[in-house]
Amino acid sequence: MTKINENYRKLPGSYLFSEIARRVAAYSEAHPEKTLIKLGIGDVTRPLAPAVIAAMHAAVDEMGTAEGFHGYGPEQGYAFLREAIAAQDYQTRGVAIAADEIFVSDGAKSDCGNIGDIFGVENVVAVCDPVYPVYVDTNAMAGRAGEYDERSGRWTRLHYMPCTAENGFSPAIPEERVDLIYLCFPNNPTGAVATREQLKAWVDYANANGAVILYDSAYEAFITTPGIPHTIFEIEGAKTCAIEFRSFSKTAGFTGNRCAYTVVPKELERGGASLNALWNRRQTTKFNGVPYVVQRGAAAIYTPEGRAQVMETIAFYQNNAKVIREGLAAAGLTVSGGTDSPYVWAKTPDGMASWGFFDLLLQKANVVTTPGAGFGPSGEGYIRLTAFGGAEATAEAVKRIKEAL
Ligand code: PLP
Repeated sequence: MTKINENYRKLPGSYLFSEIARRVAAYSEAHPEKTLIKLGIGDVTRPLAPAVIAAMHAAVDEMGTAEGFHGYGPEQGYAFLREAIAAQDYQTRGVAIAADEIFVSDGAKSDCGNIGDIFGVENVVAVCDPVYPVYVDTNAMAGRAGEYDERSGRWTRLHYMPCTAENGFSPAIPEERVDLIYLCFPNNPTGAVATREQLKAWVDYANANGAVILYDSAYEAFITTPGIPHTIFEIEGAKTCAIEFRSFSKTAGFTGNRCAYTVVPKELERGGASLNALWNRRQTTKFNGVPYVVQRGAAAIYTPEGRAQVMETIAFYQNNAKVIREGLAAAGLTVSGGTDSPYVWAKTPDGMASWGFFDLLLQKANVVTTPGAGFGPSGEGYIRLTAFGGAEATAEAVKRIKEAL
């Protein structure tokens, strides 16, 4: 009899977004006259930049000619894109990352999930709480998380690092030994960023303990505060202990286009093996590359006009974040994030539970948010709002929330 991967049976249902959808549908059915504004889900809404569209059109035309046709491409990504990334995302910041340390992929979600393939099951994994659920669930699937405890909402073998108002939403360095450390800055869901000193402490810990930092920087493009590192490789010593994940999803509206990349430095070794070589082996075996047309679209972001267009869209979302942050603060809520991030993290009033405040805003303001408790126990007492909506809808949502409070 075929045996399934028993770890899948241990996974709790993906409750958060289905429960939000259920509550929203029930409310809409009971109140068909109400128009809801959704500031819950983290998908972008602005169209692709004209430079991206032009590059993709040209690539489609190329594919229709005998000379320009592209079949299977290099699994790691085309040189034109890897070189543009290395030059413009790293070398211009004084960070020496080479094109062959960059692996182009179909998403940071896939890469954050798949990276576990190159690590042993016995490693102790540290995650933030609240957390982007992909890190937790993929380690549970691999058998690295132990058992799920319904009562605490935690897995027995994971090391949770609470990110709370008390520590400024910055996880403390573990006192015990951990082997794989997932860090995400700018953070989903809290919107927090890490300073150079904080990242240096992590890099020092990882190098001293032989740990590996898995650094998710999917929201890097939203960093505006001077001095905040845009990549962990700005930190001395990071190349011997860190892997970085980046995505074009939020940077350039590629959520439906699918393109991202992962940086695995050649200096990074564990157990006498090069992690760059292991990841290359994994990708060339299990992945056949991102479509040529999509990679041409991504490369257009690195042209002067593409860059300017993409930055304009980011500025649009940043303004929404500011409207939400300032509006909620004016309504008396304690808010964080939203400065270097598209996410605003708001404390519920009077110690109200996340889901209670979610319901209140749904019913009184007709605004859909995301309850913080859905991202982990330390998210209880918070809600997350996203800046990816339209400008008018965002302003209207904030006005309604102010009135409702
Ligand atoms: N990492 C974080 C922290 C995210 O919030 C998301 C998407 O919401 C992703 C990765 C996924 O990115 P991609 O669209 O490249 O798969």
